[in-house]
Amino acid sequence: MSRKRLMFLARIAFKRMVHDSVRWRAGGGLIAALAVLGVAEMPQQKAQAEDFKLTPQPETVQLQGRVVCLAEEMHKLFQANVAAKHEHLYGFKTHDGKVYTLLRTKLSEALFVDQRLLNKELIVKGRVFPQTQILEVMGNLQSIRKGVVNDLFYYCDICAIESVAPGPCMCCQAPVELVERPLGQAP
Ligand SMILES: [Zn+2]
Ligand SMILES: [Zn+2]
Repeated sequence: MSRKRLMFLARIAFKRMVHDSVRWRAGGGLIAALAVLGVAEMPQQKAQAEDFKLTPQPETVQLQGRVVCLAEEMHKLFQANVAAKHEHLYGFKTHDGKVYTLLRTKLSEALFVDQRLLNKELIVKGRVFPQTQILEVMGNLQSIRKGVVNDLFYYCDICAIESVAPGPCMCCQAPVELVERPLGQAP
C-alpha cells in the first residue's frame, strides 16, 4: 500500500473516530495503531491547513497605472531583442515600476483593442496568480482624469446599454462609444 493511500485511510479513520465519539480507551487503541503508521500526529485540521499552504491562493489587488507593451518595455529597460515591427504584448505598469502581464478576458478586452486607453491613467481591480506577475482583471475599469476617478465603459445611445468592451452594440449592432463618468455621478 502506498504512503498516500495509508494517509488517506488514516484520515478517514480519524474522522470516523471523532464523529462516533469513540470511548477514549478505544480511541487510544486507534491512536496507537495510527502511531505505528506514523500518522497519528496528523489531525484533520492540521492536514487541511497543510493542503491550503500547498495550494497558494491568488492575491486580490487594485492597481493604478497604464497599459504598456511588455515587449517594448523590456526592450527599453533591458535591451530585449525585440523587432521594431512586432505583435504588441500588453501588460499593466504601476507607478512603482511593477509590470504585470494581462490575461485577455472579457473584462480586459478593452485594454487590448482600444488604443485610446493606452494614454490613460487607469485603475484596475483583479487578482495576481501565485508565483507569477499575471493579472486577471476582475472588475470594471476606471480612469483618472484631472484627479477625478471615472467609471470607464462603453455605451450604446440607441439601446441605453452599457458594455465593458468596444465594438458593435450587442443589441442593435451600432458602434458603442467610450464613456468616462465621474464616480457618483448619475447615469
Ligand atoms: Zn509593442
Ligand atoms: Zn444598441
